[in-house]
Amino acid sequence: MHCFKHQEAIAVGVCCGCLKGLCANCVVDHSNFITCDRPECQESANIARELIKQAPQTNVITNKVLRKAVVVDLIVGLIFLFAVVVAFSIEGTFGPICAAFSGMSIVFIIYGVISLLKIHKYPEIKNK
Ligand SMILES: [Zn+2]
Ligand SMILES: [Zn+2]
Repeated sequence: MHCFKHQEAIAVGVCCGCLKGLCANCVVDHSNFITCDRPECQESANIARELIKQAPQTNVITNKVLRKAVVVDLIVGLIFLFAVVVAFSIEGTFGPICAAFSGMSIVFIIYGVISLLKIHKYPEIKNK
């Protein structure tokens, strides 16, 4: 690929705004990414930088959502598990109702465990 301004120059990177090739002279370095020097691409660079700054905040929100999901899923799972016991004691046999409830219970508990495992990927970053 070649620089979009200098046809003879080999591109060293691609602008994150317009996805055009940039030579070493045209690259504007934003430390996490590069852009060309056009104003609209500078503008997208500023927006991108803001989004990167907000990333820890997103982590905290995801972390909270997952924690809530774990609690809800495990509670619902236990309710279904309890329903299995109740249905079993009423019917006196492990019938289709028991099977359905235990299936639901397992599904919710698995969801709860998956959310629990995901929490580690979104650590709650405390403000220093
Ligand atoms: Zn650009
Ligand atoms: Zn160039």
